[in-house]
Amino acid sequence: MRRFPVCACSTAHLPPSEQDAIDRLIRDAPRSDGRIIVDHPILSIEAHQYGFWVHLGLFDDWPERPDELSPEFWALLADARNTGATWLSFDRDEPPSDRFPVFVAALGQGEETGEAGKPVNAASPSARITIRCSACGSADVMRDAWARWDDDAQDWALGAVFDAAFCEACESDAALSELPLYGSEETHP
Ligand SMILES: [Zn+2]
Repeated sequence: MRRFPVCACSTAHLPPSEQDAIDRLIRDAPRSDGRIIVDHPILSIEAHQYGFWVHLGLFDDWPERPDELSPEFWALLADARNTGATWLSFDRDEPPSDRFPVFVAALGQGEETGEAGKPVNAASPSARITIRCSACGSADVMRDAWARWDDDAQDWALGAVFDAAFCEACESDAALSELPLYGSEETHP
């Protein structure tokens, strides 16, 4: 048997349009001898129950990013490749990494989930967290992000959240910590 290294990555790091496109390919995939054939123009993709595998051999054919892949997607693949992995699994149950932007629009597709939408860690609702300043513990922290105008919602839709963070209490750039959120699940003032 041959051993090979693999990486796992949260699907929350995938730009929603690309994740949708791949999900659609998987859903509509033709079968050959009973096996599904995911017909992506660039990537060799194998579907699994919680997402899909991408084979990292594409770097042999594409040393530079092809236009079909976003810089965000490419960065994930390149990072996995740089660890020596031969496959990268995108898994919706994998916790997001703070090294890559998180896309929230992919969650709650087609549902009106209210202003807050679904939390990024919707896969494990019991694991509620709070984000605090690592230096002073204040919850008065914010992160850089970008938003895109949504004609249907008539509002700005949050796109990606970046690593850069600021603490109002420290009045400076801050490192953030994720802490478990104790207490009641719902807010009862
Ligand atoms: Zn602070």
